[in-house]
Amino acid sequence: TIGVDTAVGKGSTFWVELQQAESPVHRARGTRATPSEDGSATAGPSRTLLYVEDNLANLKLLERILEPRPEINLLTAMQGQVGLELAREHQPDLILLDLQLPDVSGVDVLRKLKAGPTTRDIPVVVVSADATDGQVNRVLKEGAAAYLSKPLNVREFLRVLEQHADGRPSRDRDRPQRSASA
Ligand code: MN
Repeated sequence: TIGVDTAVGKGSTFWVELQQAESPVHRARGTRATPSEDGSATAGPSRTLLYVEDNLANLKLLERILEPRPEINLLTAMQGQVGLELAREHQPDLILLDLQLPDVSGVDVLRKLKAGPTTRDIPVVVVSADATDGQVNRVLKEGAAAYLSKPLNVREFLRVLEQHADGRPSRDRDRPQRSASA
């Protein structure tokens, strides 16, 4: 809703009302808090995935792919710097990283993640259309766990997700690991 209140000789107030939306960060925190409270989680362990990508269509695609996987909390950043901050704050289980970002290059983001004591162990999967052999080798040398080319192949992405985020024990180190029968 857009409106204006005017009083002659006093001035005008222009106002805009927007519907409140739930932030993905808030949603991730809310879901994650539940299983640690009494340890009686009914769903599988929650995982946090951070996707650093400036293309809205690709972000939407990933949201759709993850729709049947409610145990995965998706955090998104459309700028490299924001992505770095989210990674430091939320310690995701896996980071998907686009190379062409509007503020800093994805390779710089990768280097900073690998240089940071709190983020160096988080697997980073680079997602880019720029998949020449030279580029792939370069990012793998910089510490990327895998390289996926665009457009994203859904099956290939799910395989990488399983490999790097699903099969790992929970990052909450002070919680006992789940038994094999869980
Ligand atoms: Mn991009």
